[in-house]
Parts: sequence; C-alpha cells; structure tokens
Amino acid sequence: MEEHAQTVTREEEIKRGALSFGAQVCGIADAAGFDEETPTGFRPRDLLPNARSVIVVGGAQPRAGEWMSPSVDTMTTTSTADRINSVARKLAQEIENRYGYYALFVPPGTRKGNQPFLSLMLAAELAGVGTRSLAGPVLHPVYGFLYYAGVITTLPLNADGRLSEPACPAPSCVEMWEREGTTPCLSICPAKSGGCLDGKIENGRLVETYYNRDRCHTRVYTNWIPGFQKVLEEAMSEEEREKRKMLLFGNFFTSTLWSLTFSAQSQGQCFECMRVCPIGKVVKK
Ligand code: SF4
Ligand code: SF4
Repeated sequence: MEEHAQTVTREEEIKRGALSFGAQVCGIADAAGFDEETPTGFRPRDLLPNARSVIVVGGAQPRAGEWMSPSVDTMTTTSTADRINSVARKLAQEIENRYGYYALFVPPGTRKGNQPFLSLMLAAELAGVGTRSLAGPVLHPVYGFLYYAGVITTLPLNADGRLSEPACPAPSCVEMWEREGTTPCLSICPAKSGGCLDGKIENGRLVETYYNRDRCHTRVYTNWIPGFQKVLEEAMSEEEREKRKMLLFGNFFTSTLWSLTFSAQSQGQCFECMRVCPIGKVVKK
C-alpha cells in the first residue's frame, strides 16, 4: 500500500511553533473580522497595511503555588504579561524568516488614553482561544485566566473562528446561581457593596453583565504609571525635605517602582475574582 506523508498545514505549523516557544494555547483570527466591533484606527490593518490574519497566543498565567500562596504580594509581583509577549515576539520573527510575510508583534500597553493598540480580548475571542466572562477577563475553557498576546501578519491563514460554547459560566457557577442567586466572582466583588461586578444567569447562560472598569482599574493597577506620576508630582512640589523623603521612600512609591521595573508594561494587582473562579482548576489544582 502506498504511503502518503502526512501534510502539516501552515496553521498547524505555526501553532506547534507557538506551543514550542512556551504558549499554552494558540489560535488564528481573520484580520477583517475586527472591523465591525473596532473603531477606525484600532483595527489590524491600521497597524499593518494589508494585514490578513491575527495570531493569538495565550499562557504565562499564575502557577498553582501562586494561586495558593497566602502572600498576595507574591502574585502581584510575579504576575505579568511579559512571558507571553516574548512568545509572540519570537513567533513574529519566525513568520517573517520562514514564510517571508510581514509580521507585527502587537505592542502591549495603551496607545491613547486607556485604549490598547488592538483589543486582545476581541482577538482571543475571534481566534477561538477564550470567551468573555462575567468577571471581565476572557477565559479559556480549560485553562481559565491567561495572558494573551498577538501577532498581526500579511500571511493569509485559515481562521479558527469563535468558540461555539462560552467558557463562562462554569456548570458549578450555574448551580450556585440557582441555589444562591450569585456566583463565586460576583460574591467576592459585588457592585452593590462597593465592588465591580454584577450580572444575571438564565438557562445556564449569561444574560446580563456589569463590570465597573474604572473601579476595578484602581485596584488592579494600584502600583502603576498614574500612581507614579501622582506621587512624583506631589514630591516635586513638597517643600519639606522630610515629607518629600517619606513620599519617595515610602511603601507605595517603592512598590510602584517594583511593578514598573519588574513587569515592563502590565501587571495585575488584584486577582480575587479569578482566584475563586472554578475554570482553570487544571492549573490551580
Ligand atoms: S480584579 Fe479585583 S477589583 Fe477587579 S473585578 Fe476582579 S475582584 Fe473586583
Ligand atoms: S466565577 Fe468564573 S466561571 Fe463563574 S461566573 Fe464568574 S467568571 Fe464565570
């Protein structure tokens, strides 16, 4: 019987490469798929002319030990998107070298105001590596919370498309909702009591969600660029030497410098809704 060598598609090759570089998941979105949900200036083609595909890698989430640790400071210091960004950077380089198409690593951080260069949440959804959750982040059905990074390329690829089933709510959250009218994330950060989250589940599906982004940001990005600027301005206009020293050598400014220098761009500082989320138990153990 004649044997045929098994053909590996470009898509498979790219995904295998991403996993070998350290990604936990990898998916492909059609660059044109962003148009409907993204304002002009923030679409893949605005960042790379003639963009055809967006490759999304996910991973670098906190490890089981970090989820378990009673020292919240450990998690807030080590949790950063840096490691997944380096995977996407390598992938971009590989695409240009191997296939001869342009490949742009999507810069992390914000471009204007709080707007990212490209919505990685939408990219992850369009690439089929996660769906939006009641708590806000995109969750992968198996791994739960992940950091995501992207590569925009002129290389035409078959897109994976959105997942057919949402990751959230998990079956145990639906049961909890039916029993108690809440879910683990809603109960840890309820909007009605000064938290950020609210929502409703009907027939096992999310039918209403509320996420107070501004409030959450003040907790997630406590030690971050705006805090640094604020203290610096205060210190510069403080005439008393001792008070100026307290501002610059105090805990807040020191933690902020740790964050800025350790993580380079994004570092979460509140994980409480994700800590209690049952999705990703495979990682949290
Ligand atoms: S990250 Fe923290 S502040 Fe933000 S929604 Fe989750 S629990 Fe609330
Ligand atoms: S705890 Fe997780 S799965 Fe459950 S509702 Fe909240 S975000 Fe969704």
